[in-house]
Formats: sequence, C-alpha cells, structure tokens
Amino acid sequence: MLNRNLHEIMKMKEYYNGFLKDKNPPGSVFTAKVSACSITAYKSGKVLFQGNGCEIEAGKWGEAVEKKPAQTKSSVSKGKVPNGISLMSAIGSDEVGTGDFFGPITVVAAYVKKEDIPLLKELGVRDSKDLNDEKIIAIAKVIKDIIPFSLMTLKNEKYNQLQQSGMSQGKMKAILHNQAILNVLEKISPVKPQAILIDQFVQESTYYQHLKNQKAIARENVYFSTKAEGIHLAVAAASILARFAFVQYMDKLSVAAGFTIPKGAGSQVDEAAAKLILKKGREVLPQFVKLHFANSEKAMNLVKKKRG
Ligand code: MN
Repeated sequence: MLNRNLHEIMKMKEYYNGFLKDKNPPGSVFTAKVSACSITAYKSGKVLFQGNGCEIEAGKWGEAVEKKPAQTKSSVSKGKVPNGISLMSAIGSDEVGTGDFFGPITVVAAYVKKEDIPLLKELGVRDSKDLNDEKIIAIAKVIKDIIPFSLMTLKNEKYNQLQQSGMSQGKMKAILHNQAILNVLEKISPVKPQAILIDQFVQESTYYQHLKNQKAIARENVYFSTKAEGIHLAVAAASILARFAFVQYMDKLSVAAGFTIPKGAGSQVDEAAAKLILKKGREVLPQFVKLHFANSEKAMNLVKKKRG
C-alpha cells in the first residue's frame, strides 16, 4: 500500500491508461488490471496493489508490495524498500548457479549511479529472465567497463568442502553477497549509495544470522526484496554480470571436460556427469559439480548401467 497525493495518482492513472477498468469501487480514483496485479487508487491517497505479480508493479512506484495477510511471518518477507528507490544511486546484488548441478555460485554486487540509469536502460539492462545468454553476454561485456562491481565466485571444490562441513547454501550466499557489497562500497568510497538492494533469497533476520561471525557486515541502507531485478537496474545489472561470469566458468568446465557441460539440474546433467566419470574418473567430480545434489547418485547409477 502506498500513500500518494492526487497529482501522483493522476500520473499513475495516465500510466495505466489502456488497463483501466470501467467499474471503480466507492471512494476510488481508478482501478487497473495488469497481468498479475490489480491496482486500486483511492481519493484518500491510498494505493492498493493486489495479486501475485505486484512486486514489480509496486516497485515502479517506489515501494515493495505488502505481504498478504494470509502469508505467515516465516515466509520470505518483503523488506520495506524506500519510496522512489528505482531512481536512486544504488548497489544491487544477485546470484547465479545455486540450482545448477554443474558449475560455481557467482554473486555480483554492482553500483549504478542514478545518472547512469537511462544509459543502462538504453544498453538493454533489464530483468535477465527476459534475456537469453547471447544477449546477456553482449550486455555484460559493455556494462562491465561502465559500472563498479564485485564478482565473488564460489568454485565447486570449495563449495563442496563448505557443504560437507555443514554450511547451508543460504549461509554461503549470505557471506558472498555481504562480501561483494563490502567490496563495492570500498571501490566507490567516499561515495555512499542511497540504497543497497539485495535480491532476497532468505528472510532478513536469517541473512544477518548467517553473517554473525563475519568481521564486517554491510547493514546501512540495506534492503531486501524478491524480484528485485524489477525494482532497481543495479540488481538487473548485477544479475547480468553474475550470469556472464557463470556462463564463462561453464565454458571453462566444458573445455576441461572435453565436451559441453549442460546447465540446470535435469536428466541431461545426470548424463553429462556419467560421461565425465567414465572419461576422467569419479575423483574429478568435486571440481565440476555440487556433490550433495541428487544428481550425483543418479549419475553413479547411470555409470553402473553403462559399465554393465
Ligand atoms: Mn536472485
């Protein structure tokens, strides 16, 4: 829910022209419906965003959508991001590779000055889910020289060590995000960002719980939101750079394996892992995959079958 003056509400109405509904509830100025979100603005200044796809819609107007009453406190919370965050100079951070059997986890924090937002838009920076790898690589090659960023790559061997020592993937991610953000803060110092936005992967309290033994923790102006790529371009840029680093690393793994390593965690990665084991031996696996995934066992079963 947002509180706006009538002038702002009229601007919103203009924006949603074409998606306006004929019938308005009593006391409202307009009602609009876009793909997965209903917007109702009231004369009182209240604006309601209702539906599953509202984070991005509300983000356009500078605020995260409030949790639905039906959701419990334990679900991932939408940290309250400040009004107008989309137009601020901000650090954004995001990660790639957490669900991929092969390859590392890459986390990038990137700083986007508000003056650079139009340029980045022009260069095609947006939600990486709308971009294919080819596009992502092309954009990343340009923006890597424009914006300050820090890339943290957690290679498979180290990942497996940490995982076997009992560290959760959530904790690994929290540590990587925090470190990447600290690195960027140092790079841009003495300039400070107006906001730091983390693409939310865990509840805020859990995030800081994971960091409790870290020497330095970035906390000032740190906000969390799911689908943060749609809220600030810094997160979209971070996501693109993280994806680029991941894709490059996968290329290196493919060279080492002698064949193309697939992404994801579907049956194609089981096949590829089996092929790798047959070619190079089981002992090379920790350098290529996240061992605790169920895919490891599936690959071993395939190896047994193939060896007959
Ligand atoms: Mn993310």
